[in-house]
Amino acid sequence: MSSSSNRSYRPPPPTHCEHEQPVIRQTSRTIDFPLRRFLGCVEYYNGSKCRTFYWLDPELPNDYYKHEVCCIPFYVMKCHMFGYISDG
Ligand SMILES: [Zn+2]
Repeated sequence: MSSSSNRSYRPPPPTHCEHEQPVIRQTSRTIDFPLRRFLGCVEYYNGSKCRTFYWLDPELPNDYYKHEVCCIPFYVMKCHMFGYISDG
């Protein structure tokens, strides 16, 4: 029995970015990383060159999950339409 460790070292999450602004939690909307949360610069989606970036969520194990996760907004929308989810 080999007891090789699969745990790779992760640096602690950043609290501030290169601009010394507090990083904020954001959600990726790319096809490759759908709905994956990360910490990044406030200006990240405003074309910032800031490289501060830290994944909060683990990587999805395969393309099947990526595809399913991509579909979630659609499912939720349908649920709203049919009244499965109420807005309170
Ligand atoms: Zn920044």
